[in-house]
Amino acid sequence: MKTKSLHNQLVDWRHDLHMNPQISFEEVYASNKVANLLNEFGIEVHQGIAKTGVVGVLKKGTSTKSIGIRADMDALPINEINTFSYKSKIENRMHACGHDGHTTMLLGAAKYLAEHGNFDGTIYFIFQPDEENTFGAKTMIEEGLFTKFSIDEVYAMHNIPGMEVGSFGTRKGAITASENLFEINIEAKGGHAALPHMGVDAITVGSQVAIALQSIVSRKLNPADNGIISITEFITDGKKNVLPGKVKMTGDARALSKQTNELIEKNMKKITKGICDAHGVSCDISYKTTCPVTFNESEQVDYATKAANSLLGNKKSNGDIEPRLFSEDFSIMSNDKPGCFVLMGNGIEGSNGRPLHAADYDFNDELLVIGSSYWVELAEQQLK
Ligand SMILES: [Zn+2]
Ligand SMILES: [Zn+2]
Repeated sequence: MKTKSLHNQLVDWRHDLHMNPQISFEEVYASNKVANLLNEFGIEVHQGIAKTGVVGVLKKGTSTKSIGIRADMDALPINEINTFSYKSKIENRMHACGHDGHTTMLLGAAKYLAEHGNFDGTIYFIFQPDEENTFGAKTMIEEGLFTKFSIDEVYAMHNIPGMEVGSFGTRKGAITASENLFEINIEAKGGHAALPHMGVDAITVGSQVAIALQSIVSRKLNPADNGIISITEFITDGKKNVLPGKVKMTGDARALSKQTNELIEKNMKKITKGICDAHGVSCDISYKTTCPVTFNESEQVDYATKAANSLLGNKKSNGDIEPRLFSEDFSIMSNDKPGCFVLMGNGIEGSNGRPLHAADYDFNDELLVIGSSYWVELAEQQLK
């Protein structure tokens, strides 16, 4: 592994980032640290793209070919319950998705490539804010990521708990789902709890809608396709002895294709409206895609898998894993440029094996050298 000698340094950087987590567009600590280190490595630094976003530009040789590698820097509004020495110093802020590790791996690759990199072309190191609310990539693009910089193709990585540490996976086509937030408002008459026949109970109608929506995935969607509808809030204005007149349901639908997403939206509107009509109540449905499907271009998947094979051997790298139903705003970058999103195992044991966003999760320090060496391998192969 090319970045092996950086191990202690990488662990220090990661622990420092872990102790100082900040959320969406507030990642000043990480952003300054990234910019200072890139400067120290002799890399051209561009700050202030989407507030805290940073782009490092490293050019060698004469080729006009280029590659962009993206890491996310934001933490989550979670209170960390880990007790190790480098636990979060900030209340209700935690690197519970491993973005401290993603940032550190890309910094490690940047240091190695600046000092010893054997390539001909330009590498763009992209450090983005706010992945969790899915506005970071979008805002960086709006502020010129792909117009100010000539980036041919883009790559990004996420750690995956429960997968053997350092094992690699990606796939062609959709790799992570779209996120679609919906809100359903039902307006009925309400009434007296003891006189239901004189009013209209919004809870009874809302409950029927909630149950019926579950039949979309089980009965409308081709079983070979994937989708999820989760109703996550059900709020009424009822009281102990008052039938509610209003129900508000919000939720989250996921899909691995535009077609599935359209099918979910269309059926959600049809079923909700049908049930409400039958009860003589009115409804209003909004359905918004906040993050598109992450689509991996075949050619870039081949390159990404080839680099993993060279680094890890083909037993530890898989170019045809199953898609994941979480969403990832790198999708917005790979919508604009051919790209590939890859996963690397964070380990199975202890805090490394806990789910992302759990208050006792932790990024695996063993992955720092592997992940940064992977970026070095990929960049050197792509810019031979
Ligand atoms: Zn996350
Ligand atoms: Zn994440």
